[in-house]
Amino acid sequence: MSSINTLLENNRKWAAKMSKDDPDFFRRLARQQTPNYLWIGCSDSRVPANEIIGLAPGEIFVHRNIANVVVSSDLNCVSAVQFSVDVLKVGHIIVTGHYGCGGVTAALSDQRLGLCDHWTSHVRSVYVLHEQLLLSIQSEEDRLRLLCELNVVEQVLHLCRLPTVLDAWERKQPLCIHGWCYGLDNGLVHDLGIDIDHRIERTEVRAAMVERLASAFSISHAAYGNK
Ligand SMILES: [Zn+2]
Repeated sequence: MSSINTLLENNRKWAAKMSKDDPDFFRRLARQQTPNYLWIGCSDSRVPANEIIGLAPGEIFVHRNIANVVVSSDLNCVSAVQFSVDVLKVGHIIVTGHYGCGGVTAALSDQRLGLCDHWTSHVRSVYVLHEQLLLSIQSEEDRLRLLCELNVVEQVLHLCRLPTVLDAWERKQPLCIHGWCYGLDNGLVHDLGIDIDHRIERTEVRAAMVERLASAFSISHAAYGNK
């Protein structure tokens, strides 16, 4: 119970400090939220959205799940996307994976963890899609790094197919989708160079992205054919 009481005590200190620094902060925040960003990230406790990119409460709308997966049948995720795009009118959606992700590691090793295997099977699908490329990498560490990046690419591509996103682009609402991968060991975000703000041809974008990411591992994806 004492650790829970510590959390409540921390909260009182935090609220007091915030009010002292900016007496109108909570009143202003309670009236409305106008974030310009939707963050889709991993639930991992080491990847807190606001802290990593230096944003205050009210500045970013956040959806997190194991391995930052976007699944069109996941009502939780698609509702977060729909609300943030249609109601909050965010200008950017950022899918942020992270290196050393437990969910991606489980998918790569086909390791069984329990009920959450259902969820990580979505990442397993990413592995299967790029299996030939991944198996061409000797280093297990590099293979995991690349799968973490490929998982971000595929989740970005899933976002680009959601009706909410397609409708926003159709009516010319500014909306750009980005893909990042965060380093637990250095605290830095690696921008994967994905910035999509219009309807795309998925196969072409995937091929270009995979080629670019694979080249960083000294592999020519072209040698393995583009799926
Ligand atoms: Zn993770």
